[in-house]
Amino acid sequence: MKITDVKSFPVWGGNRNFFFIKVETDAGIYGIGEGGITWRELATAACVDHLKPLLIGEDPNRIEHLWQLMFRGGFFPAGRIACSAISAIDIALWDIRGKALGVPVYDLLGGLVRNKVVCYPHISGGTAEQLADNAIKTADQGWRFVRWGTPTEGDILEPSKAARQTLKQCEAVRTAVGDDVEILIDVHTRLDPQHAIPLCRSLEQFHPYFIEDPLRSENVTTYHQMARHVSVPLAVGEQFATKWEFRELIEEELMQYARIDVCIVGGLTEARKVANWCETHYIDIAPHNPLGPVSTAACLHLDLATSNFGVQELPRQPGTILPEVFPVQVSFEDGHLLPPTSPGLGIDFNEEAALAYYYQEGNSPRISRPDGSFTNW
Ligand SMILES: [Mg+2]
Repeated sequence: MKITDVKSFPVWGGNRNFFFIKVETDAGIYGIGEGGITWRELATAACVDHLKPLLIGEDPNRIEHLWQLMFRGGFFPAGRIACSAISAIDIALWDIRGKALGVPVYDLLGGLVRNKVVCYPHISGGTAEQLADNAIKTADQGWRFVRWGTPTEGDILEPSKAARQTLKQCEAVRTAVGDDVEILIDVHTRLDPQHAIPLCRSLEQFHPYFIEDPLRSENVTTYHQMARHVSVPLAVGEQFATKWEFRELIEEELMQYARIDVCIVGGLTEARKVANWCETHYIDIAPHNPLGPVSTAACLHLDLATSNFGVQELPRQPGTILPEVFPVQVSFEDGHLLPPTSPGLGIDFNEEAALAYYYQEGNSPRISRPDGSFTNW
């Protein structure tokens, strides 16, 4: 079997863009992949064009070899954009391999270690009381986890005020849902240690399952400060490409949950390596998944075959996003994703529909504080 084409599909999803690819072979089997750098979809597509000549004529079964070729073949190691492109291609190659052998991708990763995958949705609420009401409604639908972001005013997060409001939210939600629902707080890389440390310490009394990305991610050595002062579990890594960006956090045991993004880290090939490295330090994975149906399917297969797994992010239930582009998506029931039984990833793709929902110019975040200085989204 040989690769004959690699096609890019930047797709408008109604309020944001997504990036999908289709890898075709001379055997008539194709694989579907997704790249994960939001607001950089066209850059990822251009990177796929650079990688394409390395792939045409190659055997798609040689997934590890092709990963090395793509990552190292340009002399300069691949950065995050290139790794987003590599991720999309790698996921498609695993889809092809599964289809060629007639087995789901989780069978290629070692087989099922669990029967279903527990997930968490995103919830919100204008006040702490509204948030608590939404948490109860979410739990009544079968979810065992709730996640929300630290509160903002408009799009601006004011650190001290947000910390006080998050404390009130946590108290209201814990009181509402009791001990049966786990709480996740996402800071979205918006704080510095002087604000993140008191926030995390104040929330410890409510026993959150984890606090996500309390710090900006450029300098992970700063997590040593967190480790010295904070005992609440931390989840980190959704922006990281490759095992090397995770290295310090794993080896120095600075996080308890790895937020691997299979569409950025380097696909299922690299996600598996990061997950296995985490296992040696008793770190669980909690894969990042703000993306489309391919990302959800790829996460599902990884989670089904990985013993050190905590919880899966699932803000959009299968079937509710791009149903025409992906007429077959994975199954969901009572807060859990279920193992697909069809070969490969277990999803299908309509190329014509993808072209009909072509990329639209979106607004990447441009947020300023009242004094005009830039602040993280
Ligand atoms: Mg996040």
